Amino acid sequence: MSALIDGYDAAFFDLDGVIYLGPLAVDGAADALAELGRRDKTVMFVTNNAARAAQVVIDQLTGLGFAADDHNVLTSAQVATAQMARELPAGAKVLVNGSESLADLVAEVGLVPVQNADDHPVAVVQGYDPAMTWPRLDEAALAIQAGATWYATNDDASRPTERGLVPGAGGSIAVIAGVVNARPTIFGKPYRPMLAEAIRRTAATRPIFVGDRIDTDIVGACNAGIDSLLVFTGAHGKHDLVAAGPGERPTHIGADVRALLEPIRGVQLTPTSATCEGQVARLDHGTISLDAVPADHAGQLDALWAIARLAWQHPGSDSTDALAALGLVR
Ligand SMILES: [Mg+2]
Repeated sequence: MSALIDGYDAAFFDLDGVIYLGPLAVDGAADALAELGRRDKTVMFVTNNAARAAQVVIDQLTGLGFAADDHNVLTSAQVATAQMARELPAGAKVLVNGSESLADLVAEVGLVPVQNADDHPVAVVQGYDPAMTWPRLDEAALAIQAGATWYATNDDASRPTERGLVPGAGGSIAVIAGVVNARPTIFGKPYRPMLAEAIRRTAATRPIFVGDRIDTDIVGACNAGIDSLLVFTGAHGKHDLVAAGPGERPTHIGADVRALLEPIRGVQLTPTSATCEGQVARLDHGTISLDAVPADHAGQLDALWAIARLAWQHPGSDSTDALAALGLVR
């Protein structure tokens, strides 16, 4: 039986909502990734979080039962500092508007981290720092106005916590952008450099990216020109999938990362219907409905894929009731 992963030589994974949920591994993920290793597939973990050092991520993944090391963990801070080292002269001063681990990386690539605009930095790099203060944002704004090149690790607007959403790295970028009338070069998903660097480091020729968010993961894969798998263990669900526009659509969907080891969900499309593994969605007078509502989760995902593929062909069609009927899919 052929599996989805058979068509790829590497799989890149987003972390939160795909590999783990808070402190816990996603069910079955560690076994699935171990199986990918046995099948000689390259695995890389890719995270926008620039506040944590790669070693912290490696330790967390290892503790959860994943095979992680220096070679297969990539953070947006690493991508940013690698690129800055290529663009800036060695020894150049960089105002670091981010965590201590970001400052460490800046130093590791041969640049000199500073904190004050009066040090005349040639560049500013912003990254998420839970201890960010307003005076530090002031220094970044002043340095950029004085001509410093502006970089940012990622621009995630929000960060999920147990208590709800809080501002992410995008918040501190927005604060500065309101002052300087410019935009930074951004490295993390959905921007191209992150996955381009993952491809470069792994030398993958046909990678697939696995994520839980349309706006960062799936758009990031589209921007990098690679295939993607949207899993339903994290942030986004069936409504986000169906609403995705061109350039935001996954190549495949699956309940979780184990879908890589399962057969591809095939779809047969006609102008007014989509059939996926026996589940049929039909378009009638602008409304999409299902011939039958499957009782099991896998069947409901098949039905969802049929609905999504048909809806994407017919922008403005109404699939509200059909989606509501899929009670087992979030
Ligand atoms: Mg995620």
